Amino acid sequence: MTEPHETRVAARDGGSHDIPFNVPYATGAEYEYIREAIANAHVSGNGPFTRRCTERLERELGSGRVLLTHSCTGALEMAVLLAEVGPGDEVVMPSFAFPSLPNAVALRGGVPVFVDIRADTLNLDEALVADAITDRTRVLAPIDYAGVGAELDTFVVLARKHELVVIEDAAQGYGAFYGGAPVGTKADVACLSFHETKNVMCGEGGALLVNRPDWVERAEVIQEKGTNRRQFFRGQVDKYSWVDLGSSYLVSDIGAGFLWAQLEQAREITAKRLELWHVYHEALEDLEDTGRLRRPVVPDNCSHNAHMYYVLLAADDDRDRFIEQLARAGVNAVSHYVPLHSSPAGLRYGRVQGSLDVTDDVSERLVRLPLWVGMSADDAGRVADVVRRAVDRLAA
Ligand SMILES: *Cc1c(COP(=O)(O)O)cnc(C)c1O
Repeated sequence: MTEPHETRVAARDGGSHDIPFNVPYATGAEYEYIREAIANAHVSGNGPFTRRCTERLERELGSGRVLLTHSCTGALEMAVLLAEVGPGDEVVMPSFAFPSLPNAVALRGGVPVFVDIRADTLNLDEALVADAITDRTRVLAPIDYAGVGAELDTFVVLARKHELVVIEDAAQGYGAFYGGAPVGTKADVACLSFHETKNVMCGEGGALLVNRPDWVERAEVIQEKGTNRRQFFRGQVDKYSWVDLGSSYLVSDIGAGFLWAQLEQAREITAKRLELWHVYHEALEDLEDTGRLRRPVVPDNCSHNAHMYYVLLAADDDRDRFIEQLARAGVNAVSHYVPLHSSPAGLRYGRVQGSLDVTDDVSERLVRLPLWVGMSADDAGRVADVVRRAVDRLAA
């Protein structure tokens, strides 16, 4: 981790420097709040900073209760427990996603059902979901790729019709909006990540958004090892005991103190990331116009949080060579998901519905570019120039 004003980057010949893919940002206030958390003498879960963070998130999101967790992965496990997914129950999700979601399902004996994504947003294709619904389906689980909202209105309508639960993997979605509402507020439950690689972070952290009031009490029990400890501390029961299934899904108040510093600057963080995102987007426009690559698509009903900037190379371009050429010019770019349906555990625990052509195609052409708060607009401009030269070389 670096101080805000001293992002260290290796010097290269000619005075330019390497541009890492990601450098975690710290506001500087984290130290003070961690010291305060220690002085509070409450460093375990549900301490003063956890309360501050959850109250702020509840106010901002305005849709339900927020439970701070040690990870989005943990929040997804809680969501799957809340939805009462059991052996053989099916959960419809994109194959172009992170393993935490299908893993949470498989841990309960459930079956991840992999469906293709939309070619524009790379989110679960709402037009294909109805065909994936069987009498074993319990949950629809879209993710908001790159902080661009999935088509939640459609998923919610489908879920009502078939009596299903909607779990939203909004790991990348904090600070983004869909249909005028904060991402994560339209599903029954949604999961945020505050992992180091996300826009606002505390190293390892996450949150469960419980948008159904009738699920709040069970969510608290699941988070507290299956006990009614929270009710006990509120004076609602006179001793606490094991009442249901659960685990430990809390984050320490030291982590929450770190997160508080970042939440205080969340607007500035998003604004800075958006600025860099737009530098890329404008600089690469003509490459898209000439069909050399494709830029991200953000539908009109979405306002994204610049979690990521990616490009899709042309179908016959050699991605490894492209990434290598960027690296040689000091730019660290990376690919993204191995499709879940072709991963070892996906083959063992999941099932495929329909064609996954878009997933297979996109996952082999996608390249993510550096984007982090300490980066300058000049750095982004330089990356765009390097991308341009590498694309020209691929065509040659
Ligand atoms: C980062 C991420 C996760 C995992 O988040 P953790 O907080 O590290 O558990 C899950 N799903 C998606 C889509 C992610 O991007």
